[in-house]
Amino acid sequence: METKLFCQSCTMPLDSDAVKGTEKNGSKSSEYCMYCYENGVLKNPDMTLDQMEDIIKTQMQKMNLPENLVNMSLNMLPTLKRWKKI
Ligand SMILES: [Zn+2]
Repeated sequence: METKLFCQSCTMPLDSDAVKGTEKNGSKSSEYCMYCYENGVLKNPDMTLDQMEDIIKTQMQKMNLPENLVNMSLNMLPTLKRWKKI
């Protein structure tokens, strides 16, 4: 089975380098997307898991994604690297 990369902060699929965040040295991150991570740091370090859930819900509903897909992403959130320790 192919391992699919997801942003470890917001569940965005990291399908191409274009959506990957950047490390301090300019290389692409394989853990975070460009919306969450830039130049080696998280863009919103103070964001809570609750806030992230709201953002994802709003964004995915705006994109008219099916509810089961939205729920799948929300369920995945607490297992991601960024949120696991909480
Ligand atoms: Zn992200």
